[in-house]
Amino acid sequence: MLSNSLIELDRAHLIHPVTSYRGHEATGVKVLRSAEGATVTDASGHQLVDGFAGLWCVNAGYGHESIVAAASRQMRELPYATGYFSLGSEPAIRLAAELAQRAPGDLDHVYFTLGGSDAVDSSVRFIRYYWHARGEPQRDQFISIEQGYHGSSTVGAGLTALSTFHAGFGVPLSWQHKIPSHYVYRNPAGHDGNAIIAASLAALDAKIAEIGGPQRVAAFYAEPIQGSGGVLVPPKGWMKAMRARCQAYGILFVADEVITGFGRTGPLFACSEDEIVPDIMTVAKGLTSGYVPMGAVFLSDHVYGTIADAAGSSAVGQGYTYSAHPVSAAVALEVLRLYEIGLLANGVKAGARLMAGLQSLKDHPLVGDVRGRGMLAAIELVTDKKQKTPLPIAAEPARRIFDRAWKNGLIIRAFPTGVLGYAPPLCCSDSDIEAIIERTAKTLDETL
Ligand code: PLP
Repeated sequence: MLSNSLIELDRAHLIHPVTSYRGHEATGVKVLRSAEGATVTDASGHQLVDGFAGLWCVNAGYGHESIVAAASRQMRELPYATGYFSLGSEPAIRLAAELAQRAPGDLDHVYFTLGGSDAVDSSVRFIRYYWHARGEPQRDQFISIEQGYHGSSTVGAGLTALSTFHAGFGVPLSWQHKIPSHYVYRNPAGHDGNAIIAASLAALDAKIAEIGGPQRVAAFYAEPIQGSGGVLVPPKGWMKAMRARCQAYGILFVADEVITGFGRTGPLFACSEDEIVPDIMTVAKGLTSGYVPMGAVFLSDHVYGTIADAAGSSAVGQGYTYSAHPVSAAVALEVLRLYEIGLLANGVKAGARLMAGLQSLKDHPLVGDVRGRGMLAAIELVTDKKQKTPLPIAAEPARRIFDRAWKNGLIIRAFPTGVLGYAPPLCCSDSDIEAIIERTAKTLDETL
């Protein structure tokens, strides 16, 4: 059992990320104690299927002894090595090489961070350096997309377009601009993919013109699927069209694969399926499957080369104490091995089951939309299917749906927009997926 004192200690001292502090003080913490495969157990012994892989990150699932062994071996041998002063460690070098080999196109240069937010933050710094190096420092404007999420660093939160990350924080900054999302279910252009792509291209053109022309624009940021905005899947060809338009303007295209990378949508990187090679790609989460923190920025040959040539014998002033941490790298190497000896394949199979199962709930009176790709999916709840009236949040706060699912033995993400998000571990068995669907149906019935 969870002791009252632990709840009190949490209430008094632990600040939780993206949480209502006062709301949390009132409800108290739910403590997770152990996990195996796709199942987690809380402090009272209640077992739940983790339909959200922690925070869309435990792609490999819980309890892999080989990952634990890789970490402990590395800790024993060499727990830390800096990358400063041209030093390094074997796992970090090997990991960079393995990732470069698998990344799309010429994304051959890998800079390791501690997670997704600092990967995005670092990417902005590389982009600024790149344009200075190119003699175009006036290219200092950045464009991203409504409903997009790019972390909660000061810079990333401004590229993010979700109000929770803006209110009270003084972001977005003046050089951070947005265009509307493709949001297929609610797009004014309707459901037709070509019309949506045309609308997004027109919005990008208009935004660039408004900013002062392409010669002012440094980069465009896009998630292959918008995750935190409610699992918004663009129409097929959307990424390719946006990438091509940015290329035509000479604007750098950044694919933020922090959620979509490492098998979440099927292949190792969603960009491969979208048939694009971005100039820069950011990853985190599935890179180490959440066992230890790590993220990365991939730079294409021309971005890396431009920065390296401009710096010459001077240092490029971007780095962290824990860049390319050897323990994280050793874990990532083992996680990568596990993906390739079966987890990616199982994820594809389980993803098809998940989507079919969620589609079977389409007739439920509350389900307005079902969408997703691979092991990344969502259902959008409405009170009127024809009018697409969002489930009124005041009447049914997301937290209540989350708690109801929890009681039913399921962890899902309940977004305040009335969207339920799914990102289960790739190791899910058929019965795990069945449990996710059954427990979702029960939760929806109790929400009616
Ligand atoms: N970029 C995207 C697309 C994300 O989904 C996230 C986190 O969910 C981030 C960046 C930030 O990553 P982190 O939470 O590891 O800082």
